[in-house]
Amino acid sequence: MIKKILIANRGEIAVRIVRACSEMGIKSVAIYSDADRHALHVKKADEAYNIGTDPVIGYLNAHNIVNLAVASGCDALHPGYGFLSENPVLAEICAKRGIKFIGPSPEVIHRMGDKIQARQAMIDAGVPVVPGSDGNLDNVGQACELAAKIGYPVMLKATNGGGGRGIRRCNNEDELTKNFDRVVSEATKAFGKPEVFMEKCVVNPKHIEVQVIGDSFGNVVHLFERDCSIQRRNQKLIEIAPSPQLTGAQRDYIGKIAVQAARTVGYENAGTVEFLLDTDNQFYFMEMNTRLQVEHTITETITGIDIVQEQIRVASGLPLQYKQEDIHYRGFAMEFRINAEDPKNDFLPSFGRITRYYAPGGPGVRTDAAMYTGYVIPPYYDSMCAKLTVWNLTWESVVERGRRALSDMVVYGVKTTIPYYQEILQHPEFRSGHFNTSFVESHPELINYTVSRPKDLLAAAISAAIAAHTGL
Ligand code: ADP
Ligand code: ADP
Ligand code: MG
Repeated sequence: MIKKILIANRGEIAVRIVRACSEMGIKSVAIYSDADRHALHVKKADEAYNIGTDPVIGYLNAHNIVNLAVASGCDALHPGYGFLSENPVLAEICAKRGIKFIGPSPEVIHRMGDKIQARQAMIDAGVPVVPGSDGNLDNVGQACELAAKIGYPVMLKATNGGGGRGIRRCNNEDELTKNFDRVVSEATKAFGKPEVFMEKCVVNPKHIEVQVIGDSFGNVVHLFERDCSIQRRNQKLIEIAPSPQLTGAQRDYIGKIAVQAARTVGYENAGTVEFLLDTDNQFYFMEMNTRLQVEHTITETITGIDIVQEQIRVASGLPLQYKQEDIHYRGFAMEFRINAEDPKNDFLPSFGRITRYYAPGGPGVRTDAAMYTGYVIPPYYDSMCAKLTVWNLTWESVVERGRRALSDMVVYGVKTTIPYYQEILQHPEFRSGHFNTSFVESHPELINYTVSRPKDLLAAAISAAIAAHTGL
C-alpha cells in the first residue's frame, strides 16, 4: 500500500488530495513556487518543498518533481488536473524511478491526449464519434474541401487541446479560411503543438460526460454521468450530476458505452469520457480526459464514493472496491466554479487580497477552496479559486440549495462569478432543467445583475462574528 504521496499540483485540487491522504493515513508532500509560499496546500500537507522563483516552470518540470518525490521518500505521485496531469512523460519518468503514478499508463495518456488517435480508438471500438477528419489537417485548402463534404458549421480544434482553448466554430468557408491560421497559432501557443483537425459542429448540443474507473485486474466501472452544458466559450461553469435531461435508458446506454470505451484502451485509474448529445438524442464521443476532473465532486456527492481515495487504492494495486451493481446514485448534485473574475467586464480575471472569506455550510453543502481571509490570489494561475458543491433529493430542491449556498458564501476583495450564477439559477430555462451548451451565449442579459449590499453586509457580519468566536 502507498505510504507517502507527492502532489504535483497546487490550489484547491492539491488540498483535495491532501485530505484524501490524511483520511487514509498516507503522508502528503506539497510543492510550491515562491508565489505560492502562503498557499493553503503548503499549510495543509505534511511536508512542502519550494520548486523555484518562477511561478509556473517548477510545476512543469517533470524531472525535478520526480527527483523530489524520490528524495523525500515518496512511493507515489498524484498529478491532479492541468499542469503535467496529461503529460505521458511524467508518468514515464515515475515508472522509471519506481514512483507509482496515480493515473493511467503513459501509453494510454499519450493515445487519448491526441484527439485524432482517441477518435480512431473509439471508431475501432464501435463508439459513435462526431463526423470529422481522419487525421490532422495539412492546410486550409484541405480544410475547405473536407468542410464542403461534411457540411457547415464545422469546428476547428487543436489536436492536443484542453481546457476549452484552441476551438473555433466556422459557419462558412470565409470563416474557416480566416480561423485556420488562428487555431494553428493558438494550438502552438497553448499546447506547444500546431496540429489541428476538424469536426462537424453539433448545433445546440448537451455536454454529457461519464466518470469511469478501472483497476489493474481489468475491472472497469462507471459512476454515472455529469451534465456540463453550462459553459462559456467552451469552458465549464456549472456542472450537474446526474443530468436532469437524460432518461434512465439513455443513462444506462451511455454508461455502458463509456465502460466499453475505457476497456478498449485498457484504461486503469479514474478517467472521463466526454460526449455530445445532439437534438435528435444521438450521443457522439468527443474526447477522453485521462485524469481526475475538476467536477469529480458532484459524482462523489451522488454516489458516496471518494474518487481520489479509489484512485490511490487502484494505483496501489488493489482491486476496485465496487462492482457495477454496487454503485448507486441518490438525488442531484451541482457544482459552481467560483472564479475570481469580473463577469461584467468580459470575465476578466480579478486577482488580489481576499479581505473576507466565509465558506457556506448547512445541509448538503461542500466547499473545496484554496483561500482564506487575508490570502492574496496570485495572478499567474487559473482564476478558479473555489468550488461549491451542493446536494439535494430533487432537481427543484438542489437549485434552491445552490441559491441559498451561493448567498451564504462570502468572498470579498476580488470580483467573483457568484452573483452571475445567482442569475442563472433564477432563469426559467435553467430551472426547467432543459438547456444546452448555447445557454450562456443566448442569455447575455444575465450579466445585468446588481449586487445587493444589505445581504452582503449581513453575511460579512455573520462571518466576522464566527471568526471572532473561533478566535481566527
Ligand atoms: P475538466 O475537464 O476537469 O472540467 P478543465 O477543462 O476545466 O477541466 O481544465 C482544468 C484545468 O486544466 C484548467 O486549468 C485547464 O486550463 C487545464 N488544462 C486542461 N487541459 C489542458 C491541456 N491539454 N493542456 C494544458 N492545460 C490544460
Ligand atoms: P477540451 O479538450 O478543451 O475540453 P472538448 O473537445 O472537450 O475540448 O470540447 C470542449 C467544448 O467545446 C465542449 O464541451 C463543447 O461545448 C464544445 N465542442 C467541442 N466539439 C464540438 C463539436 N464538434 N460540436 C459542438 N460543440 C463542440
Ligand atoms: Mg473536454
